[in-house]
Amino acid sequence: MKRWNLVVDVAKCHDCNNCFLSCKDEYVDNDFLPYSLAQPRHGHRWMNIMRKERGRYPKVDVAYLPVPCMHCDDAPCIKAARDGAVYKREDGIVLIDPVKARGQKGVVDACPYGAVWWNSEKAVPQKCTFCVHLLDEGWKEPRCVQACPTGALSIIRADDAEMARIRESEGLEPYLPELGTRPRVYYRNLYRYTKCFIAGSVALRDPDECAEGARVILMDGTRGEIGETTTNNYGDFKFDNLEEESGRYILLIQYPGHEEKKIEVELNTSLNIGTVFL
Ligand code: SF4
Ligand code: SF4
Repeated sequence: MKRWNLVVDVAKCHDCNNCFLSCKDEYVDNDFLPYSLAQPRHGHRWMNIMRKERGRYPKVDVAYLPVPCMHCDDAPCIKAARDGAVYKREDGIVLIDPVKARGQKGVVDACPYGAVWWNSEKAVPQKCTFCVHLLDEGWKEPRCVQACPTGALSIIRADDAEMARIRESEGLEPYLPELGTRPRVYYRNLYRYTKCFIAGSVALRDPDECAEGARVILMDGTRGEIGETTTNNYGDFKFDNLEEESGRYILLIQYPGHEEKKIEVELNTSLNIGTVFL
């Protein structure tokens, strides 16, 4: 059976918040029973856009991570709810029954992604419904996907075997897979949020200018060479997608007519090694 999956491309998200606003537009003041009661105007972020800055000036970047309910296949919120108040549909969507879930604040605490919000006025836990009321009317995507101007959000409706193939071929990953909840939201370019980089610049002392085209080789203590790049016209280089707290690395910098430079670094989090003069 085909099931719904959401794909988020972290490299394409610019934090414009259109997805968040379209969610507010859809749900504030609007009940969609039996799926959801109206979302409060303030406080709830059913599409929660998190951010992470990496590096040190001037080698800094920022990544945005839209986090809705992950519609997990092994959902802790379902296990925590009483009387079947949280359930998964055949099409993969996880829903909170707003009548049965009344008073069940434990559903909020059960979600390891922080995707459930407490509506204190109505005493119900609430979250993203994947715009199920629209999909049931024949919509092909939820409001947030429709509103995203950069293509950072997209829908894949596929059976589980086909989805596994797509995941593999397109390098899609769940966020925090160690939680073991088997999410139906997948991320492309997740390393922009979860991994770190080593960056720097290479310059020549004589003449005093940027070393464009310098060869930079990255090695680690156990595996030897793990990457190679060339400096751009500002003399800049960057190795991304490295594990945080992953220990000692060696950079070899080579430029015609100059002696090779060897630099050792300890990688904890994203690192700007500054300018290396040859
Ligand atoms: S992300 Fe949280 S609320 Fe959504 S299905 Fe998973 S455990 Fe439940
Ligand atoms: S609408 Fe798209 S680009 Fe804008 S914040 Fe949401 S996911 Fe990111």
